[in-house]
Amino acid sequence: MVKIEIDKSSGFCFGVVNAIKQAEAELKADEILYCLGDIVHNSHEVKRLNSMGLQTINHEELSKLHDVKVLLRAHGEPPSTYEIARKNNIRIIDATCPVVLQLQRKIKKTFDNLEQKDTQIVIYGKNGHAEVNGLVGQTENKAIVVENVSDLDKIDFSRPIKLFSQTTKSLDGFSEIVEKIKSRAHEAVKFEYFDTVCRQVSSRIDKIRDFASEYDLIFFVSGEKSSNGKILYEECHQANPNSIRVSGPNDIEKSMLKNAQYIGICGATSTPKWLMEEIAEKIKLLLNGENEK
Ligand code: SF4
Repeated sequence: MVKIEIDKSSGFCFGVVNAIKQAEAELKADEILYCLGDIVHNSHEVKRLNSMGLQTINHEELSKLHDVKVLLRAHGEPPSTYEIARKNNIRIIDATCPVVLQLQRKIKKTFDNLEQKDTQIVIYGKNGHAEVNGLVGQTENKAIVVENVSDLDKIDFSRPIKLFSQTTKSLDGFSEIVEKIKSRAHEAVKFEYFDTVCRQVSSRIDKIRDFASEYDLIFFVSGEKSSNGKILYEECHQANPNSIRVSGPNDIEKSMLKNAQYIGICGATSTPKWLMEEIAEKIKLLLNGENEK
């Protein structure tokens, strides 16, 4: 008898839960709600909310809208977005995660009160990611974004440096960046760093490793755009090389289930529980020979 289990610690983080709750509440009162960018990096959940009336727009579309309601997702937005909304009489439903909001305020305060004006604010994060754009916006777009060690050449090591992290980056990655900057910064240069990695993601790394190592086969469920999905899948795969990343039930084929007796299902902070449950159902159908794909 094949055992199938869903990881209890996988699924939406509180920031995403909060954004979705706010969207659902607004959609009960109104038929249309615009959302700036995908509410969550999971196409299945986006589709579910779209069917309730949520319409995803981009920044260009936002600037053409007037007198409507727009939800800002958990990633947050730069000040320029609030400025467009003010000019166009757009009502903002602000679902920015409190953790991200706190980080935005911290960066803004740091930028506004720099003791040494030549200080460089550096953000360890993904270039172009919505959260990172929101953080860079707090510095009049002057912050330097470093995605990895090879980006460190963008920094002038003879000037002061203050380093922050995108909330969903890994703690190991952040520590590596800190060490490299320490080793390259000139002796008299002031270097300060702030660990702003969200524990909702980092605390899942150990949990997902433990979970993955207990099964013969792991299905890791996540959308392709999810940053923490990428990190968590890598951890999962390291703990159990027999891990397969899937985005939904249609990705699962019977041939993948060969010889597996213990199958685990886990996912990212942007993966809905209902989707992991659908995956479990699909596996059961395939094992019972009711669905051959
Ligand atoms: S990962 Fe953390 S910071 Fe990002 S939305 Fe979730 S709770 Fe908020």
